Amino acid sequence: MKSVRVHQYGAPEVLRYEEIPVPEPGAGEARVKIEAAGLNYIDIYQRTGLYPLKAPFTLGMEGAGVVDAVGANVTEVRKGDRVAYAMHLGSYAEYAVVPAWRLAPLPQAIDSRAGAAAMLQGMTAHYLTRNTYPLKKGESALIHAAAGGVGLLLIQIAKRLGATVFGTVSTEEKAKLAKEAGADEVILYTKADFAAEVKRLTSGAGLHVVYDSVGKDTFEKSLDCLRPRGYLVLFGNSSGPVPPFELGKLAQKGSLFVTRPTLLHYAASREELLQRSGDLFNWIAKGELKLRIDKTFALKEAAEAHQQLEARKTTGKVLLQP
Ligand code: NDP
Repeated sequence: MKSVRVHQYGAPEVLRYEEIPVPEPGAGEARVKIEAAGLNYIDIYQRTGLYPLKAPFTLGMEGAGVVDAVGANVTEVRKGDRVAYAMHLGSYAEYAVVPAWRLAPLPQAIDSRAGAAAMLQGMTAHYLTRNTYPLKKGESALIHAAAGGVGLLLIQIAKRLGATVFGTVSTEEKAKLAKEAGADEVILYTKADFAAEVKRLTSGAGLHVVYDSVGKDTFEKSLDCLRPRGYLVLFGNSSGPVPPFELGKLAQKGSLFVTRPTLLHYAASREELLQRSGDLFNWIAKGELKLRIDKTFALKEAAEAHQQLEARKTTGKVLLQP
């Protein structure tokens, strides 16, 4: 089968489109014929070695398609089921073997492209707003990279919960998308000092929570956006990892909280996974959550897709199709 593999860390050019054997499912596993694979920023961290893995490996942490074989002791899915999954390596390929408990059945209304677009970034937006910092009606939140894959979903889910939503983006075009998704205020953080803008827009009060996936470039100023006892949820590092930090600053800046969550620990059981994905599919089917599939690339164009995501040229979701 065709796959996209990393043999050595580096720039997008290290991605190799190559033939490997179709994998066989072991006990507790199912094989999915991939119809769409989701591109996520974590793929870049794994390609560059920021999150090290043993090479060679097939990239891709999200996919959707049809179960075409199951191993022993699989009770969760059957051959022929339409499914989607996230947080298991190997979806940049024609087939992927996945622990069966990670496979969410796709309802009729959700096609494979929507399934692959919703799982990883959607479950992330779900847990960040429901569990990491449970947003309540009337509270205020800042979402960085608001027109990105996670960003557009976070805005919509935060608005469902009744929060006032501030977003940051790099361009006017992205600002328009964030507004359309429901953001109350959008700041061009490439032009304006976003912490000063947040202070101005909240009359000095500051926010309940900042959802920060940009990391190095935004972390310190994100702290300055918070009200006393506010929460900084650092969930990514698209601009680079945050350097070592003096914890005493949290006291000086208002007895703040910082957490660094990952989806792995918030979709840790089948029950949790089905609950989160079930909510997402339900909202999508009812038209209450809009997916924006920005670009679709052929599997063999994975390097080009990576280049565009890294260069901030994409909005919403990017898919690869075998
Ligand atoms: P996005 O579609 O959001 O793409 C990344 C965006 O980050 C860019 O479009 C850009 O938006 C912004 N950005 C800011 N600075 C930089 C920079 N120096 N280089 C590149 N991009 C930059 O990607 P995803 O939706 O896939 O992921 C968003 C973030 O969420 C990532 O950091 C990812 O790791 C994290 N994440 C974390 C999870 C978790 O559980 N912890 C799960 C899923 C995602 P702009 O041009 O507007 O600045």
